Amino acid sequence: MNAEYSRIIETLKISGTRLIAVSKTKPPEAIMELYNAGQRDFGENKVQELREKQDVLPKDIRWHMIGHLQTNKVKYIAPWIHLIHSVDRFELLAEINKQADKNGRMIECLLQVFIADEETKFGFTKEVLFEMLRSEAFKKLQHIRICGLMGMATNTEDMEQVRNEFRGLKNLFDDVKRNYFSDAAYFKEISMGMSSDYTIAIEEGSTMVRIGSLLFGERMYK
Ligand SMILES: *Cc1c(COP(=O)(O)O)cnc(C)c1O
Repeated sequence: MNAEYSRIIETLKISGTRLIAVSKTKPPEAIMELYNAGQRDFGENKVQELREKQDVLPKDIRWHMIGHLQTNKVKYIAPWIHLIHSVDRFELLAEINKQADKNGRMIECLLQVFIADEETKFGFTKEVLFEMLRSEAFKKLQHIRICGLMGMATNTEDMEQVRNEFRGLKNLFDDVKRNYFSDAAYFKEISMGMSSDYTIAIEEGSTMVRIGSLLFGERMYK
């Protein structure tokens, strides 16, 4: 058994945080190893890879989309995706709503917020987020359920900076909850923390950590 997996699971038990095993670039056999140890939540960042794996792996796996999602690809994952963490614009949300309707289901989403001190990360700014939440167009979407927020901290050695960014996301979550989702029990998720910073994320209130390399080893990119 994967010793790191057992160790992480024990750590998460205390805080009640959910583990999303990020299996991008890893083969189905690697996923099955964790599946056989009891893991059911897996995260991927590419639609093509998600489709291929969903097709061949057990149907009780809960697939999480964590990467940048193109509007024209939503249709391929809409029938079965468990949670989309990376909703970063209204246009995408509208398309997810449309495809959810077509499939006769509700699709659960997180709104990705830009919290890093980097130009490469996607996500809503606070201002644009509030603007969307206030809009009539947003209120009309009946086939999506916003379950919380997602964020990625800056890729830095400075763990105080990372902690501050996570804390900022938690504060924003509380703010959004109070103003727009105070009666919605399902608005409860904060997806933050990866291999290098997940223990800090948990201390700052994460409910879902997305861990890849710590579980599966370093990724090799072609
Ligand atoms: C790859 C990825 C992760 C996991 O990163 P590790 O450092 O391997 O744990 C988490 N979140 C997102 C959005 C990713 O793309």
